[in-house]
Amino acid sequence: MPQLTINGKVCDFEQGQSILEVALANEEAIPHYCWHESLSVVANCRICLGEVWAPNPRNEGKLEAWPKLVPTCQTPCSEGMVVHTDSPKAIGNQKSVMEYLLINHPVDCPVCDQAGECHLQDYAYQYGRAESRFLEAKIKAPKKDIGEHVLLYSDRCIMCTRCVRFTQEITGTGELIVDGRGATEQIDVFPGMGLDNELSANVVDLCPVGALLDKDFLFKKRVWFLTKTPSIDGLTASGDNLTIEHAEGSVHRFKPRPNPAINRSWITDEVRYGWKFVASEDRLNQPQRQQLNELIDCKWDKACEEAKKGIKTAGDKCVLMVSPMLATEEAYLLGQAAKAMSDDVVFAVGPVPVDGQDKTFANGYTISAEKAPNARGVRQALEKVSESVLSYEELCELLADKKSGVKSFILTGNYPSDWVTKDFAKLIGRNFLVLIDTLPSDLVKRANVLMPSVTWAEKDGSFVNHKGIAQAFDAAIPELEGAKSEGQIALDLLKACGQEAKRYNAAAIRTEMGIETAVNEPKADRVESEMVFAEL
Ligand code: SF4
Ligand code: SF4
Repeated sequence: MPQLTINGKVCDFEQGQSILEVALANEEAIPHYCWHESLSVVANCRICLGEVWAPNPRNEGKLEAWPKLVPTCQTPCSEGMVVHTDSPKAIGNQKSVMEYLLINHPVDCPVCDQAGECHLQDYAYQYGRAESRFLEAKIKAPKKDIGEHVLLYSDRCIMCTRCVRFTQEITGTGELIVDGRGATEQIDVFPGMGLDNELSANVVDLCPVGALLDKDFLFKKRVWFLTKTPSIDGLTASGDNLTIEHAEGSVHRFKPRPNPAINRSWITDEVRYGWKFVASEDRLNQPQRQQLNELIDCKWDKACEEAKKGIKTAGDKCVLMVSPMLATEEAYLLGQAAKAMSDDVVFAVGPVPVDGQDKTFANGYTISAEKAPNARGVRQALEKVSESVLSYEELCELLADKKSGVKSFILTGNYPSDWVTKDFAKLIGRNFLVLIDTLPSDLVKRANVLMPSVTWAEKDGSFVNHKGIAQAFDAAIPELEGAKSEGQIALDLLKACGQEAKRYNAAAIRTEMGIETAVNEPKADRVESEMVFAEL
């Protein structure tokens, strides 16, 4: 493999890779603003310039210095090249770029949401000079409301054009433009337009400074208090990789986690803001059972005991309907629990909401029309415990037949909103019902046993996305008090049927089922420098 040397480190590279790409892959710090792995290269911020020496074939391959500093983001590597971004000349350029960028920049860090994760702030420490030499009045630029989710603080903008390139190259909607020239240049929305596309809030993540901010997160939390847990989209079948950022047991925001094979660097606004039901005050948080036509609170042991007894007493067929919102491992355990409680179980996958058709953008990112994360995984898990697994539609057909012989139900929900239609509630009738769910619905009052469950943000598991890729996720926040994961509820039901008490362990169940999940280790998008600068 060809090699080059970057700041004294020998690095392998592939033909076509830029110096900056290879440096970041080898954890070698080179400052950069405008370069982004999922956007075109424009080399306009100039902070990544490096001093390059390369073998000259016209001079017996002797190493010769190139006459000028070159943008490392745009310069392809070549065999034997030697690059310095820590030489006096390169450092001089970094300092000049930082001084230029800070000339009109407001000193807003104490009130800026980006503080703590701002490239400009970090590079000012790493590559900037301690004192400003600029004595003139700073140019003030307005704050603008540019779309449903995004605010633009123009005077913090460093004109990297990442946001403009995003709306041109990724969404193809072109809402953002560069307006004006020179010192009055500004980012703006195209006249008569707003930033209005399904991926709009990704510009907030792309912005290396605090110029584009998320209205939903504005002034809510300092970022250094947030813990970041890698997770998977739990709302649609996209399987998009994301990070759940939380503090003190509460979710504060979702951010995309780059995965070139699935979502590149993006998530939809639907997924980014769709988690609010996790924190809903209406969440079910108390197991209950019917007594004299009323639901009364009970302990978990009693709820499991009542569920087992009711299903056995009802006799004949029991329906287990597993929601596509659940993890694969949970579907497998619920299948076993249903079999332990009834000799004649009808297995079915719950309703899979679909909204229109899949939408694929020019760069390959797809918004899934299927609004449930794991219809495929749930079906695969149930097929491990039964040869026949019905779809929701097939189940409804069966229940419409008065001779179906169904006498009891174990139903799971866990949808972001009420999922029970009047027609479906009618099909349940007065049969014995064990309901495992997160939010109130028409079935709650009808349930003989009610078991509150937790969302994917509160438990471990895996989902199989619309391309058939299985991906594991870990709990980000603790379970809601009074509720349990469906996996643990299944194990508790098995315990009520005489099996050994167990704690839900998704990884162990995956091993038992023989599921292998794709692993995507999160990568840092920047590398912190430990350079000591030469005095210039
Ligand atoms: Fe500070 Fe960065 Fe915000 Fe500017 S954009 S005020 S440097 S945190
Ligand atoms: Fe770059 Fe942010 Fe300015 Fe857009 S608003 S050009 S992303 S600094």
